[in-house]
Formats: sequence, C-alpha cells, structure tokens
Amino acid sequence: MITTTVAGSLPKPAWLAEPEALWAPWRLQGAALIEGQQDAALAWIKIQEDAGIDIVSDGEQFRKHFVHGFLEEIEGIDWQRMTTMGIRDDRYDAQVPTVTAALGRKNSVHGDGAKFCRERTSHQLKFTLPGPMTICDTIADSHYGSRPKMAMAFAELLNQEARELDALGVDVIQFDEPAFNAFMDQVPVWGVDALHRAIDGLSCKTAVHICYGYGIKANIDWKEGLGAEWRQYEEFFPALNDSRIDQVSLECADSKVPLSVLGLLKDKDVLVGAINVANNEIETPEKVAATLRAALEFVDPERIIACTNCGMAPMPRDVAEGKLKALGAGAALLRKELGG
Ligand code: ZN
Repeated sequence: MITTTVAGSLPKPAWLAEPEALWAPWRLQGAALIEGQQDAALAWIKIQEDAGIDIVSDGEQFRKHFVHGFLEEIEGIDWQRMTTMGIRDDRYDAQVPTVTAALGRKNSVHGDGAKFCRERTSHQLKFTLPGPMTICDTIADSHYGSRPKMAMAFAELLNQEARELDALGVDVIQFDEPAFNAFMDQVPVWGVDALHRAIDGLSCKTAVHICYGYGIKANIDWKEGLGAEWRQYEEFFPALNDSRIDQVSLECADSKVPLSVLGLLKDKDVLVGAINVANNEIETPEKVAATLRAALEFVDPERIIACTNCGMAPMPRDVAEGKLKALGAGAALLRKELGG
C-alpha cells in the first residue's frame, strides 16, 4: 500500500538539452542524441530507484515535449505550417503545427526507448503518452473539421503505440490530459470515448493524468483566477470513475482542489500528487506524508499511489532529485504509520 510513482517528465541534463525550458532544443544530434537520451533515462531510473519510487518512468528523456514528441512521427501533419493558437481554452499561446491530411503512424514512436528502459530496470515501468483531447488542443486542424473526429483519429494511433509498449512489458501506460480541466463539459461527451479507443485491447494498467499544468507563469496566473476552491474536477470525475481507465493522477500538494473530489473516484487507483512542481522548495518527508494522509479520508490506502503533482521537466535537476527523495521518504513514513 501507498506505492510510489512520478507523473512523467523529469529535467533533461544540461548536456542533453537546455535546462529549465519547455520545448528546449537538443544539444546533440543523430546517434549521439540517441545515446544521450538513453544515458539520461538510465540516470533517472537509478535516481528514482534509489529514492524509493516503485513505478519508474524514463523521465520523458526521449522526447522534446510531451505532446509534440509523439506528433513528430505522425503522418498528415505539416510542420512547415505553424499556427499560433490559444491553447487550454486560450490560457496561453503556442506555436503549433497543422493537420492537413488523414493521420497515420509511420513508425513506432517510443518503442526503442521503452525497450531500452525495460531491459534495465526490474521495477515496474510507466510510459506516458499525450491524451487525444490534449493533442487536439495543441495542434491546428485544417482537415477533420471537428475536434471529436480528429481526437478519435489520434486515439487510433495512440492505441497502436500503446499496444506496442504493452507488448514490450511496460506496466502502466498513462495518457496526459491537462486539457480535461479546460474543457470539462466535453470530457463526458467525447473525451472518455477517445481514451477508451486509445486503451483498447491493452493488458497493462492504464492511467489518465489531469492537472492544472506545469509550473509555468501562464498556468500560475490562471490558477490565481480560479477562486479559493478548484471544483473543476467535480464536473467530469463521475465520467472518469465510470470509465475503463484504471488510475487517475491529479495534483494535491499545495493545491486548492478540495480533497473531497477524490471521493468521486471510488473505483479507481488514485495517483495523489504530493509534490508541488511549481516551486523549488523541497518538501520534507513529513509534509509529503501529511498530503497523502489527508487523502486517506477519501481513498483507501490500497488505492493510493503517491506521485508528483505534474511533470518536473522545467525544474532544476537537483531540485527534482530532492523532490523525488522526499516523495519516496514521505510515502515510507506513512506506510510505517499504517503498519505496512
Ligand atoms: Zn500535469
């Protein structure tokens, strides 16, 4: 009980990509880049194992960005036709490519990276993929004419990728859907259907990560306008609880999400975010344990997986490492207290 994992991304080492930036350009090319990505993933696996993280991730070292890393291998996208788009319901502008033809998956995207990690850890391994709704909110469309339609096309490709990762021995595949709390009303209408298409036929565990975004300024400013209590999740947690997804990941550390919303996920494993990714202050194990303990009021200990609030890609490397150690130590404290 109270096992541990991470939401997904971890900082890139400075020799691999510019630190503390999203969409940071690679500092290596060709074969050297692949070797560098592997070395970075291996370092993070070791750090996670030493920190007491049970379900480890590659830290997303094989991709530049959590959405575009997948899209780079997809046919039907024009990368010369970049559009400035207000994403997450116009929370911030991003330069995004455009879908101009029917989508197809030319090659495996993360197969090599997943295989490399699988061969090098005996821990459970988690791999993250962008969710269909979030992809559609991070790309311009001049072909499908409807978001739900384009989401199902992406879900089909995600399913091909997920089946491959599953066959390679990945234990948990997580779909990142930060767009869920920008388009709450669309989640029960087509968001969950698209996720179901993406997980079709998988034997591994599946997860969805929903959150209030990386600790970047646009997100921090947006959060300030959300009021004293963030109740957005109430609108679609019932649909998630009724879904076939096994696990739901959300932020609970220093969060204004009322923990009572966890009570809406009574049939799911809950990845309780106990590490704040929006500041560089390293939590004490006691603080981590306190966040997890508060969730116990609404979630049985068997269903709690201690996690980070979100990815840690934009953080300084030493801070991320300190936070991983705090997460492992905090979960251990609570397990001890519960007699586990
Ligand atoms: Zn997140």
